Amino acid sequence: MFIKEIKGDYTMTIDISQLPIIDDHCHPFMPTREKRDFDNCFTLSLIPPKSIDTRNTLLFKMVRKEMISLLQLDPAITDDELIRHRNERYRSNPKAYVDMLFKDIGLESLLVDYGFPVMGSRLSADELDWFHQTSSSVPTRRIHRVEATYHRLFEERVGFEELEELYISELRDEVEHQGAIAFKTVIAYHTGLKMNKISRSQATASYSKFLDTPDDLAAEKDVRDYLVLLAFELCMEYDIPIQMHSGAGDAPMLDVKLSSPLLMHDIVSDPHYQAVKIIFIHTAYPFVEEAGYLVNQYHNVYLDLSSMIPFSSIGVQPKLRQIFEMAPFTKVMYGSDGFNIPEVSWLGGRIIKKELGKFLNDLVEDQLISEDYAYTAAGLVLSENARNLYLRNWDRRTNG
Ligand SMILES: [Zn+2]
Repeated sequence: MFIKEIKGDYTMTIDISQLPIIDDHCHPFMPTREKRDFDNCFTLSLIPPKSIDTRNTLLFKMVRKEMISLLQLDPAITDDELIRHRNERYRSNPKAYVDMLFKDIGLESLLVDYGFPVMGSRLSADELDWFHQTSSSVPTRRIHRVEATYHRLFEERVGFEELEELYISELRDEVEHQGAIAFKTVIAYHTGLKMNKISRSQATASYSKFLDTPDDLAAEKDVRDYLVLLAFELCMEYDIPIQMHSGAGDAPMLDVKLSSPLLMHDIVSDPHYQAVKIIFIHTAYPFVEEAGYLVNQYHNVYLDLSSMIPFSSIGVQPKLRQIFEMAPFTKVMYGSDGFNIPEVSWLGGRIIKKELGKFLNDLVEDQLISEDYAYTAAGLVLSENARNLYLRNWDRRTNG
């Protein structure tokens, strides 16, 4: 026990706390979307949890510990007092509070999917202005969710030719004029990741069936597969990556079984699509080991660590081990999936630096890697891989 304490506290040689971080997958935060008490913002479920339960999760214990350290509060502070204190700090001067969070983790940039929230009202211009102004100490960059385009066209019930034409021209506009650095798809939520190649004539027929009978799931799946694979073609043309929602998501909307990255076998094995940089986001949690395996097997498959970090709390460390038992350090990137509140991205930053640092330190102690290489690997995961992968429009920021 004594030896363990010494090891934990004193012999840790790898300290990556000062390295910069790029958060490669998150969403805007803003008080108007903070509809729950602070403690209940730390869940991925759309079903409102109970405070008595969330406060008794290890994730919330981590939130508590890190906030007490950041805000220099009394460790004996009650949860209610902590939340009151946080709300006062954030609401009295949001920009100063957010600047402090970003600085604390060495945040360099946020890569933002503006397609969330999808339920209820879309983000207003005022809300986006607020987010951009409040986050302006670091550049925000744009990820375009392809469903944001084609769902609107579904709602307008345009004909197939128009659907295809407007969809492609809007995606082109996103890359050529709006500064999109990547596309993202949430097809996993709707018809799952087992996508098939669909001919244009089959897509045309299925689309008219789908318009007539919206609950015809097979017809809907054909249309979605067709449209998402069209986006893959544009990714090849523009050399931008596509972020695939995989694994964890908003219960009860997502059937997690349909979001395993293993379901992409036919697509990732097709030589044609091996020219597309495919990023499985959310660490495909809980299919973490499977995702690490695919990253190893396919040169064009990458992994983003969001959602697993911070939501799997003490699971981060063993899961990093599972990922890197096969995945190269050059293909895994930090992300938080932060949404609604700024603390998710911040907590993710604190957790990745601690847990990745400990993991790399163990590898150095086992003499598997050198100290120098530990810092190289940390730099890759925390920021360098994102800089190397998102090339097009990298110089375009969305907040000023
Ligand atoms: Zn997300």
